[in-house]
Amino acid sequence: MGRFCAICEKHRGAGELVGPVIFADDLVVVTHQPLGKGSSPGYLFVETRRHAVTVADLTEAEAAAVGWAVTRAARALRQELAPEAVFSMVTGRSVAHFHQHVFARPPGTPDAVPWHDTTSWPERPRLDEAGLIDLVRGLRRRFA
Ligand SMILES: [Zn+2]
Repeated sequence: MGRFCAICEKHRGAGELVGPVIFADDLVVVTHQPLGKGSSPGYLFVETRRHAVTVADLTEAEAAAVGWAVTRAARALRQELAPEAVFSMVTGRSVAHFHQHVFARPPGTPDAVPWHDTTSWPERPRLDEAGLIDLVRGLRRRFA
């Protein structure tokens, strides 16, 4: 048995990180952030299916799959939400399993709100259960 990994656990459908799946194949898994933590619409994660720790550990096939999924995710967010911008980052500071954040900046976000931290804006748009289901349905169609 390997060491516990919250993202491997998530891919098995367990743990607090589990969110609705937008796309999944043998190489990558794309999900929306679960409700809670003041979720705003359009916060996605692109993760390798395999337990690769950092971007430098990806195989060529994983790297290609991640690139495709990130691009597709950004376009899907743009089409579904018409955001001010779509940003993406890889930090890997919290969980040592490759994951890339891809997220929408809501229209009208004040300039003072940091690009990487929309949750610091108290008036940001929020998601409820029904809104999340609708959004995920739309995003899935953009991956089909
Ligand atoms: Zn893992």
